[in-house]
Amino acid sequence: MITLALSKGRIFEETLPLLKAAGIEVLDDPEKSRKLILETRDPQVRVVLVRASDVPTYVQYGGADLGVTGLDTLIEHGIQGLYQPLDLKIAKCRVSVAVRSDFDYESAVRQGSRLRVATKYVAIAREFFAAKGVHVDLIKLYGSMELAPLTGLADAIVDLVSTGNTLKANNLVEVERIMDISSRLVVNQAALKLKRDEIRRIIDAFEGAIAP
Ligand code: AMP
Repeated sequence: MITLALSKGRIFEETLPLLKAAGIEVLDDPEKSRKLILETRDPQVRVVLVRASDVPTYVQYGGADLGVTGLDTLIEHGIQGLYQPLDLKIAKCRVSVAVRSDFDYESAVRQGSRLRVATKYVAIAREFFAAKGVHVDLIKLYGSMELAPLTGLADAIVDLVSTGNTLKANNLVEVERIMDISSRLVVNQAALKLKRDEIRRIIDAFEGAIAP
């Protein structure tokens, strides 16, 4: 049996065509069913639905053999025990720094001010500002990052940006682009040895179906 960990929403939707290419058709719709283990048309493959930030943990400890996770989540989790064979080029976005439109970020940085930065992506933010030589106090949040500069909790946020509409709707502007993000296939290293042929078949089918 092969277990694949996915999160609901964008990653699930955008992984479906890759699964199809591997002959794996999921039999339940996660938006309609409350099931957390989904059968597929291949009796040897099942999908487990976990929180996006838990996908690397499931795969690292063998709760799943494979998983699909954003590069942002992977960097925050760390890559120990995980083989990363493919950039699936799905769920694309970027990690950026954003501030209130009336906040002069450039001069704050130039003057060496200490910045308060709210983010879910503490590891990415810490490394970025350290490399830039900017002193920051990082405030860990789990959601609604956009609210932090609007309420005075922070001067800046580090968050995922796709179209930029969420920032615009909250009167925020993107001032730095830290990195481009897409989803990656991750594989448990022990499973790769023990179930080599089955996992290789899935990796090869995914690889052949990745959009150029
Ligand atoms: P947008 O308004 O299109 O710039 O999207 C920004 C919002 O969607 C932010 O709240 C992000 O956290 C979230 N978001 C954008 N892209 C992704 C992605 N690939 N994966 C997860 N969340 C995302």
